[in-house]
Amino acid sequence: MRWGLIGASTIASEWMIDAMRSVGDGEVAAVLSSSAERAGSYADKHDIARGVADLDDLLSDPGIDAVYISTTNEKHFPQAMAAIAAGKHVLCEKPLAMNVADAIAMVRAAESAGLVFATNHHLRNAGSHLAIKQAIEDGRIGKVLSVRVFHAVFLPPHLQGWRINNPGAGGGVIPDIVVHDADTVRFHLEEDPQEVAAMSAASGLGEGVEDSCMSVWKMPSGAMVQTHESFTHKYPGTGFEVHGTEGSIVARNVMTQKPVGEIELVTGAGREILPFSEHNLYARAVAMFCDAVAGKGRPSASGVDGVKSLAVAEAVAEAARSGSRVSVDYGGI
Ligand code: NDP
Repeated sequence: MRWGLIGASTIASEWMIDAMRSVGDGEVAAVLSSSAERAGSYADKHDIARGVADLDDLLSDPGIDAVYISTTNEKHFPQAMAAIAAGKHVLCEKPLAMNVADAIAMVRAAESAGLVFATNHHLRNAGSHLAIKQAIEDGRIGKVLSVRVFHAVFLPPHLQGWRINNPGAGGGVIPDIVVHDADTVRFHLEEDPQEVAAMSAASGLGEGVEDSCMSVWKMPSGAMVQTHESFTHKYPGTGFEVHGTEGSIVARNVMTQKPVGEIELVTGAGREILPFSEHNLYARAVAMFCDAVAGKGRPSASGVDGVKSLAVAEAVAEAARSGSRVSVDYGGI
């Protein structure tokens, strides 16, 4: 696979370039930045053949098979639509767009063009989450009653830019982290949140956007979900718990980019530590994307998955703003 990077981003630098190169004969052929100087320095630093500042320049390269979009969130929609029009497969960062309608338009455009379009939700690729899902599927905890998601972290200083002060670029903890939690809950429960209640806070880390959020979701099965997302918490660690009629899964340190954590299963028989694979989350996502392009299977998180996680985040934002319970509107997808 020959990749074009749309966005000279931190996530590409820290995880995705290595992931692309680790799969088959994966090659990163070009990188786009809004600044020609930055495109050049980023390309040099990461040993990428071309750094360009013009999207058409990158998209008109017939040697590029797929693009990975990791610009700030308000750019995802126009860049994805242009890439699809140019016949490129697209792996797009979350949130897919600034609103559900745009995200649906992206998914539909790729479908019409016969192209693979996927969302980079990394957590469903984690060995820890695959093991949790397997335990649920195997009936180890019986019928699921509730889920609790602990995703309050401290945003590292090098990421404290647009995320904490630029609503126009899609900043705020709801578009940043609630989407991941929505995708992870959907992955495990295989159903879509129906209704949400929420409160958010801007506790001083940035300006103009929320930096913390707590919400409660009702699932069609009757299961309840409780989530906590934040940019301001240095010490709690993350976690994911699924409680059922026959047992509980309590996982710690699993809402993370690294293949780490611990999972405990508690049932009437006692306590058990669940083992899991420690593979790279992003490499698995890229491998499944490449397989899908080759006609084998589907991407780990599809475009529809990205629309749905965004729809939940939109509902949480609206519930926090209005103080009312909000039904999740999936836009008919
Ligand atoms: P960055 O802030 O690192 O990059 C976003 C844009 O900011 C880049 O495209 C770049 O613009 C510009 N930029 C970055 N660094 C600099 C710099 N030093 N000087 C000037 N401009 C700079 O964002 P992230 O990598 O954290 O996030 C990018 C996207 O990826 C977001 O949509 C985010 O939600 C998503 N993300 C997903 C994760 C996941 O695990 N799935 C994890 C982290 C982020 P230009 O390209 O024009 O140079």
